[in-house]
Amino acid sequence: MTFHELELNSAMLRVVEQAGYTKPTPIQARAIPQILKGRDLVGCAQTGSGKTAAFVLPIAQLLGESGDKRRIRVLVLAPTRELAAQIDEEFGRFTRNSALKRVAIFGGVSQQPQVKALRRGVDIVVATPGRLQDLMNQRFVKLDQVEFLVLDEADRMLDMGFINDVKRIVKTLPKRRQTLLFSATMPQSIRDLSKSILTDPVQVDANPQSSTVRSIAQSIYFVESGDKRALLKFILRDAAAERVLVFTRTKHRANNLAKQLNRAAIHAEAIHGNKSQSARTNALAKFKSGHTSVLVATDIAARGLDISDVTHVINFDLPNIAESYVHRIGRTARAGASGIAYSFCDVDERKYLREIEALIQEPIEVVSEHPFISATPAPKRQNGVSKPRQNGARKPANQNRRRSRRPRRSRQARPA
Ligand code: AMP
Repeated sequence: MTFHELELNSAMLRVVEQAGYTKPTPIQARAIPQILKGRDLVGCAQTGSGKTAAFVLPIAQLLGESGDKRRIRVLVLAPTRELAAQIDEEFGRFTRNSALKRVAIFGGVSQQPQVKALRRGVDIVVATPGRLQDLMNQRFVKLDQVEFLVLDEADRMLDMGFINDVKRIVKTLPKRRQTLLFSATMPQSIRDLSKSILTDPVQVDANPQSSTVRSIAQSIYFVESGDKRALLKFILRDAAAERVLVFTRTKHRANNLAKQLNRAAIHAEAIHGNKSQSARTNALAKFKSGHTSVLVATDIAARGLDISDVTHVINFDLPNIAESYVHRIGRTARAGASGIAYSFCDVDERKYLREIEALIQEPIEVVSEHPFISATPAPKRQNGVSKPRQNGARKPANQNRRRSRRPRRSRQARPA
């Protein structure tokens, strides 16, 4: 399948080519023709599937090239500021040869530049629900001419308690519009929401179970919770661990861990909801440019972030919601590339591991030889997936700061 087969016009094909996209991802291949036909759509796709371009490209084409300063024609709602900023950028990328104007609206920064842009007139608004409602209440935003509504990461918006905000916003939109809803998971609450705001939608499923998750090399390290830090440092010294996204359960743990890593001369930064917008943007920029090799994040902070070429996702703490595991590891293996996901599992987290394996419908390979093996025996597993992986023993101290290109292959395990 090529982009030429998706009914995109020559102007769109040119910008797609300029973006360096050679082949549509599955969600793009299935969603773009439907959106171009004018259908409402429910897309089951996670971050990393290429879902942003799946709605940005056809909407950009349907809008045409001329701007209309008097009215907002597209409204995209997203759960986090980072995601809103990224969607706005993607619109920018694909509408840059047009006169269309846009603004991203989110909290945590001054509202003045956003208000100014609205006053000048915009065609496309990408917003988080909270700040958008603020500006609506102050009468800076009029949504009665919206033609396209997109709800992105709808499940996360619901998880974050935005359901009533979303419903209130949607009530102010014209009934005649095209509505697209994207969600990584499809719990009943999302189905109910879809029924209430979409009209006869097509369903498009680019489920991670069969695509993204399979292309990621996943492994589990059984480890005592007190040894997790040492194990992380051990792994980070591996040559290939160049751009690493580490997940912790809490903001506090993210902060502490980043500090500890820096003390060990591993450049790390934490990113979480308590940090100011500029601190988060900064941390992200440094990670993207390769300035810091490790980003320590909580689920909410990382959700929706466009971080490409992550070599490793490391679950320092396993998530207690199985679906979060799929979201997290989707940060590596973006847009068809393969990736590596390691998960640390202490005794208390073994119940979460069972739930994760049930969700992804396959057992995760256990690293049975590493220097910090848990004293508590690994649980018995079916179908012999508990294969040893020779990740190597601890390196001599003087090698610790240099990143060697070759992976270590010693089998020596730490005595229990
Ligand atoms: P998304 O799931 O929308 O967050 O996209 C994930 C990443 O894949 C982004 O960095 C996009 O720029 C990139 N991407 C989206 N579509 C394609 C494509 N067809 N080919 C290559 N990269 C893509």
